[in-house]
Amino acid sequence: MNVLVINCGSSSLKYQLFNMEDESVLAKGLVERIGIEGSRLKHEVEGKDKKTIEVAMKDHKDALAQVLDAIVHPEHGAIASLQEINAVGHRVVHAGEKYSASVIVDKSVMAALEECIELAPLHNPPNIIGISAIEELLPGVKNVAVFDTAFHQTMPASAYVYALPYEYYEKDHVRRYGFHGTSHRYVSQRTAELLGKPLSETKIITCHLGNGASLAAIDGGKSVDTSMGFTPLEGLVMGTRCGDIDPQIVTYVMGKENITLEQMNDIMNKKSGVLGISGVSSDFRDVEDAAAAGNERAILALDIYHSNVRKYIAAYAAVLGGVDAIVFTAGLGENGVESREEICKNLEFMGAVLDPVKNKVRGKEAFVNTDDSKVKIMVVPTNEELTIARDTLELVK
Ligand code: ADP
Repeated sequence: MNVLVINCGSSSLKYQLFNMEDESVLAKGLVERIGIEGSRLKHEVEGKDKKTIEVAMKDHKDALAQVLDAIVHPEHGAIASLQEINAVGHRVVHAGEKYSASVIVDKSVMAALEECIELAPLHNPPNIIGISAIEELLPGVKNVAVFDTAFHQTMPASAYVYALPYEYYEKDHVRRYGFHGTSHRYVSQRTAELLGKPLSETKIITCHLGNGASLAAIDGGKSVDTSMGFTPLEGLVMGTRCGDIDPQIVTYVMGKENITLEQMNDIMNKKSGVLGISGVSSDFRDVEDAAAAGNERAILALDIYHSNVRKYIAAYAAVLGGVDAIVFTAGLGENGVESREEICKNLEFMGAVLDPVKNKVRGKEAFVNTDDSKVKIMVVPTNEELTIARDTLELVK
């Protein structure tokens, strides 16, 4: 059984083809600049040279057609024919309150995704286009939608209702949804395996620290709180997103600087976070280099970032009433040795003690706490694609 996993962004598309007998990756790649001049497909097959295909791709359907061609190409392909693709799993950002698990796509699912466009105007449209394109290109093959929001549907109302007039929740669906759910789910399940404990008996704080970043408090395998909210803007300071700020700042700055709603959205989503504070970059490697060279604002950006994650960890320890493991994942979580060390400073009071030597690890599973630390501190690389492939297999088999 081969499962193709597709993740459509606004101008990009990532894919992986899995052989689910042994969960090996047969092919993977990335299409960039869809609908923009200079579109290209970077394609990789185990045991073959990497291939870059530069050809105009005007939309996601064009891009997916190129991907399918590359997958069955006689030289740089991975399988002989498209008939060997048994099912397709799609990453979908927003399912509102409609789905708390992955589903096989049918007309009613597509209608629900359309309804959620107003909640995720940047993310859901390319996801929907990706599914429609596969329906045309691979007729008869089942599509499965795996939602970023689904895992967090177990949160209690005390975690998801905002302190606004209740009618905005009832009428306009304004509530905390949470994102990165596929990652938090995979990482918490893998953590329980590594702890050698049943998932149902674990209390885990997962820290997904990438360009976007969120924490989740996971009790017995269920998400009970998470830092992203109605949109992926809330919560932690991120690469370019501001995270939590006093909401009154928004109207104040708009009035003072005479800027539009759209400009304000752009500022909070794309010009804030560590980029906004440091003025250097949204990439932590650049900000760390600048800080090491003495750049005061880069130092400040990192201090704010680390203290922000630390505050959330302590808050979620209280939400859970105890913690078995604090787990770091995604780009910075998996690779940011110094960041993990800084974040875990001051957590000794709750029995979480990082071992600076064990912590010198990048991109692989590891326990990085001292031997006598009551709380385990771990690095668990996330694997959203594999989770999507597993869900897809489970639903179609
Ligand atoms: P995305 O949210 O786009 O999937 P990733 O999970 O790939 O992001 O994380 C990207 C971020 O991870 C980058 O902004 C970079 O700052 C950080 N990162 C990646 N490798 C390192 C590293 N070796 N040291 C510090 N930060 C890193």
